[in-house]
Amino acid sequence: MKKHNFIKEDKLWKCTVCGWKWTSKSKTICPEVTRYNWEERPENLKTKIELERLNLNLKEDTTSQGVIFSMTGGFYWLYRLEDSEKVNPNLPPIYSWDNRNSLKTPGELRKLGLEIGNAKPKGTASVWDKILSELI
Ligand SMILES: [Zn+2]
Repeated sequence: MKKHNFIKEDKLWKCTVCGWKWTSKSKTICPEVTRYNWEERPENLKTKIELERLNLNLKEDTTSQGVIFSMTGGFYWLYRLEDSEKVNPNLPPIYSWDNRNSLKTPGELRKLGLEIGNAKPKGTASVWDKILSELI
């Protein structure tokens, strides 16, 4: 980490490295990659947790391609989808817990008095940062 490299642009101080702008020269450290907002980052840049939710892991020697600053002062490093690979190639499609159509967990089916039999999972659901449950 080092200091920002400022240039004056449209009455603001812009760092030529991270691309962020301030009304006065910021004394914060430069992340040395492009800084984004949650809403304005490229579609292919994800945090590690977002990649895990997609059944993806970073390939070796991958470096972050962007950063988002958190309100608490930390960094959320961003990585390109292209720099990741599937953790489990046989994992069925991943749904969010609240948007999984009519798919149920084995426990939910048992509560309904239904047997799973030989049914194969048609999906998985992620809860928080873990892929938790097979859905049938
Ligand atoms: Zn900077």
